[in-house]
Amino acid sequence: MERRQFIKKNTGLLATIPFINLQPHSIFDLMDTEIFKCKIGGFECTIFKDLMFTYQAKDYFINADKSELNDALNKYQVDPESIPSPYIAMLLQNGNQKILIDSGIGFSEEPIVFKGKTFVLKGKLKQLLAKENIDTDNITDVVITHFHPDHIGGVHSSDGQLVFRNAKFHIHQDEWDFWHTSKSDSQPPLFKFFIEKNITPLKNGNLNLITQDYQKISKGLISVNAQGHTAGQIALIIGEERERLLYISDAFLHPLHIEQLHWRTNFDLDHKKAKDTRSKLLELAEKESMKINAFHFDFPGLGFAERNGQKWKWIYDG
Ligand SMILES: [Zn+2]
Repeated sequence: MERRQFIKKNTGLLATIPFINLQPHSIFDLMDTEIFKCKIGGFECTIFKDLMFTYQAKDYFINADKSELNDALNKYQVDPESIPSPYIAMLLQNGNQKILIDSGIGFSEEPIVFKGKTFVLKGKLKQLLAKENIDTDNITDVVITHFHPDHIGGVHSSDGQLVFRNAKFHIHQDEWDFWHTSKSDSQPPLFKFFIEKNITPLKNGNLNLITQDYQKISKGLISVNAQGHTAGQIALIIGEERERLLYISDAFLHPLHIEQLHWRTNFDLDHKKAKDTRSKLLELAEKESMKINAFHFDFPGLGFAERNGQKWKWIYDG
């Protein structure tokens, strides 16, 4: 039996999970749930499912051996034409401090028309925050791990209003510089459109540009350089002392990228750096005994990476 199913069937075991206290109401029906709660160190943590999307294996595993990939996808019972992938956002609360990590794809009543193509934006983050009685004006900090649309689309509303009006925004300097210089000229125009709408206006606002690896953002929150997927992607160490979680953002898009560190995706800017980052993050999680949260894995994306000789294995746990 897979560990995940085993835990679902044996809730008594939850007491043995060392770092995260899962709330019983959320453990039984994770496929349908849109809000998941747990505790990490001093934080009340809420993970929101902004949207479900699908990707294709040809974009996720561009250099994988075909038969090896087929076997692997069978193991995960995944259709290569339609790999399910949630978009998430995480809220960390400690007293009056409310830190949002990533902002979802955004929401627009009307489809967005860009270069003759129509895009529907139906991210649910704002609606789910309201359901949890979280006023967006009370969000104190927003951490943006990188500037791809699924992480930044909710920063401004469709009519151009800043959604988190009182928040300080934390972004890596390298990410900011890459997208605001000619270095990003070859990037998809749609990505630049999202950035101009959601990120660029922050330049006159409450902005903290991160420059160091392992830089403290706030009590219980440390930024870790995780470049490769983009020029300045960050991962995050959340919590304190023995109760900590590693938020890996898009360093891995699917558990198979943990098992096959060299399998490249079409969405990574620099494959060599992306692979080095994958190793760095897994070794960090192992060394510090941290559970992992992965943005695009099965919701809520919590689990462990277990070393198996030269390789790693992903175990869903949450
Ligand atoms: Zn993403």
